[in-house]
Order: sequence, then C-alpha cells, then structure tokens
Amino acid sequence: MNPASTPVETTGDTRHELIFVVEDEPEIARLICRSLHEYGFETQHFRTGHDLLFRLKSAQPSLCLVDLGLPDIDGMELVSRLWKTHGCPVLILTGRSHLADRVVGLETGADDYIVKPFEPRELIARIRVILRRYARQGGMEPATAARTARFAGWHFDLDCNRLTSPTGQSVELSVAEARLLTVLLQRPNRILTREQLAGRSDLDPLDRSIDVRISRLRQKLEETPVSPALIKTVYGAGYLLASTVTWE
Ligand code: CA
Repeated sequence: MNPASTPVETTGDTRHELIFVVEDEPEIARLICRSLHEYGFETQHFRTGHDLLFRLKSAQPSLCLVDLGLPDIDGMELVSRLWKTHGCPVLILTGRSHLADRVVGLETGADDYIVKPFEPRELIARIRVILRRYARQGGMEPATAARTARFAGWHFDLDCNRLTSPTGQSVELSVAEARLLTVLLQRPNRILTREQLAGRSDLDPLDRSIDVRISRLRQKLEETPVSPALIKTVYGAGYLLASTVTWE
C-alpha cells in the first residue's frame, strides 16, 4: 500500500475489514450490512450499545458504525466510550432529528457522520476515507502527499524530521517524536487517545511512552512547557494539538 500518493477517489483494498454495526432498526441494519457485504466488508450487527461494548472486550473491528438513537444507551455517550476506551474509528449514523448532534458527535470523537436516509455508496465511500486515514496514521504518512506542515508559525519537514521555529531556528526530532508530531498534525484540534497517538489499539493503559514523548515534544515546541499552549492535555482522554495546520 502506498497511501501517500493515493488519491482519495481510489478504491483501496478494504476487503475483509470488519465493521461493527450498532443499529436497533432491523430494516436499516439489514440494508447497511448488505451494502457493506457487497463491497467486501465483513460485518457484525448489534441491536444495543451494551451488546457492542460487550463484544469489544474480545474483538477489535476496523470501524464502528453507530446509530445515535439506541434503546439502551445515549449514542453520544457510546461514541465517547468507544473512542476513549477502545480508540476505535467511529462513523455516526444519525436521523435528521439528530442533525444538531453531529457537531457534538465529532467533538466527542467520531470520525464522521452520515444522515439517514443515506446512499449506500456514500456510506462505503466515507468508511473507506476513515480507514485510509487510520492506515496512513499507522504508516506515518501525512494526510496528503505534502511533506511539510505549517502550524502556529512553526514549519515541520517530514523528510528530515526537522522543525523550524517561528524565529527560524532548526530543531531536530527523534524518529519517535517526529511520528507523534505527524499524527498530531494530521488531526489538529481533535482529542487523540494514547492508542491513536501510538497507532495501536492494544496499548497497555500503564504504558507511559506516549506521555514521555509528548513531554519531550513540548520541551522543543512550547514557550512554557509546564503550561503548554500547543499540545494540550485533555484529562482522562488524551492530547490535542491546538492549532490550524497547513500542508504543502
Ligand atoms: Ca435507532
């Protein structure tokens, strides 16, 4: 796979990716699963949020497709738990009446949302975009073929792992620090869990390597590392890069 040079329109090989579908309306669930099967995805369907959470103890899907209107648990609460606890990509499926929730949904950690009734092709396309984005994070590639990022006056060159400060000073990063910064730059202004930052879903909760790397990055990036303005800590959730990012 060579995602850095792959245009968004390209299909990509998403066959056999496992998608968990939480949807309490049987008709819609059938439609979703049938569409996903047609495009080569594997699915497991759950009628309630708790069924899904129980299954997640023993299985790791590529993505969870979550209906916001569930009988047993608030959809937003579920999205938040999926993302905090499991670091799992989430696509929200929402009725028109829940449209106002979409922004909240994205802030809660969902990767995207789709409004019912939906076109199966659009659903597939959005799922693929999310899966590619995660694959790229694992592969440490930027969101586009661009190799340099500008943020808050800084300039980061991926090819040589070099940071240039707003005053033009050059700052070398280790490979691990550069990888972490790349992931942050790919999803600015979004809370990222340790699992997402590490690019793995099986991260030991006691593993502090991400925190150590964050701390080193702050030493290099922040004017006042003890009171960081760029890489924010979101307690109990993860970290967030508070800046707009331009790739070129
Ligand atoms: Ca529903």
